[in-house]
Amino acid sequence: MSAKNYSNLYLAIYSYLGYRNLTKDPRIDKLIEESLKEIEEISSFQYIYQEFDYLLDFLNQKPYLDYLNGSTNYLICAMTLGVSVDKRSKYYEKVDLERMFVFDATASAYLEYLSDEFERNLRPDLGYRFCPGYQGTDVSDIRLLYNLLKANKIGITLLDSNLMVPQKSMIGIVGINTTQKRSCRDCFLIEHCEYRKEGLRCYTKR
Ligand code: SF4
Repeated sequence: MSAKNYSNLYLAIYSYLGYRNLTKDPRIDKLIEESLKEIEEISSFQYIYQEFDYLLDFLNQKPYLDYLNGSTNYLICAMTLGVSVDKRSKYYEKVDLERMFVFDATASAYLEYLSDEFERNLRPDLGYRFCPGYQGTDVSDIRLLYNLLKANKIGITLLDSNLMVPQKSMIGIVGINTTQKRSCRDCFLIEHCEYRKEGLRCYTKR
């Protein structure tokens, strides 16, 4: 992992943690560093996708159409860090809550990082990932994507609540050649985003 990407990852982790003005906190930095090392060792990143060149019925609603911005070509995709990360997080929940919080935030940022890298290497004309739940879309759309992809093939289980196991998993769509630009508008991190405090955006590196 390059130093540049590593520092981007730290910003993302601090955002997930919701800390303010603690970017240089050596104790938190050390916990992040140890978590990253551990997650790199125990995670087994997997990513599956399928390309479509026509609009699936459930995508025929404004937020998805706005996201695709006229393009009918897109991927549906699923990715996970695997079950070992969940198990380690549960262990820390019992023995060291502070470490658990940092570990969990680090795992979330690491999954985003690996997924971005995978998509960058896959093809250069992909947009950002758009997941059910964004911009008022129904979270339960995730089940349609899950079933289409057969995401159980990479070890993801979708519970009745639409939560996924392993917890560090994502399912979404990625537009091809879409000119739609990502914004912070619907991001749940917006109130405590470390990127924004630095005048940056997480998506400008794409
Ligand atoms: S979308 Fe905006 S608010 Fe959310 S993490 Fe990225 S830069 Fe921060």
